[in-house]
Amino acid sequence: MPDRYKSVLLFGAPGAGKGTQGKILGRIPGFFHLACGDVFRSLDMTSDLGKEFLNYSSRGELVPDELTIQMWKQNMHAQTVLSLFKPKQDLLVLDGIPRNVGQAKALEKSLDVLRVIHLRCNDEGAMMMRMRRRALKENRIDDADERVIRNRFEVYHAETLPVLDFYPPAIVADIDAMGSPAQVFQRVLDIVVPVQDAHFNRPSTAAQ
Ligand code: AMP
Repeated sequence: MPDRYKSVLLFGAPGAGKGTQGKILGRIPGFFHLACGDVFRSLDMTSDLGKEFLNYSSRGELVPDELTIQMWKQNMHAQTVLSLFKPKQDLLVLDGIPRNVGQAKALEKSLDVLRVIHLRCNDEGAMMMRMRRRALKENRIDDADERVIRNRFEVYHAETLPVLDFYPPAIVADIDAMGSPAQVFQRVLDIVVPVQDAHFNRPSTAAQ
């Protein structure tokens, strides 16, 4: 990999709204959003890899690091080859990866992490409600079962939260994840627009 991808990480507990924010951001020219969970969910569930994913996700566990990183790298390569992601023009918005310190270390050679956006929400009840609603809408079995949801939160606290300490405090931005998607998005934009301005030369034309 010649250059490291210039990236921002969307970070937060399950149900904090990373996917919602990432999807909106990914619609804006100059941003490319990739959610690790979406990549896993797009697998053929009858393939070995698909079965492996189901085996872990149905229990609210993380898929083993080696498999995750390998799949992520292959997916990024495909997106780049297809020109869906243009590393010289697009800021990569990652959501759901890295999910533990081992993954953060494994991605160091691939990523130039410019900001980590921590969507902070202390209201676990609100996040659980969001997850149940999403489970019904998107047919996500892992988010329909109360015990699985609880395990996802436990895994988040034990394995994922320490990732915040892996990055320099100066690049970690805490934002309030409570509020409407538009309100939260305004907070996200306040952080990512200066990053894009500083690292990419984007023409200010409307048509692209
Ligand atoms: P998500 O949609 O991000 O909540 O992910 C759904 C499930 O996919 C998780 O519970 C994990 O089983 C798996 N998964 C997603 N991202 C990762 C990752 N970076 N590392 C390991 N497992 C992951």
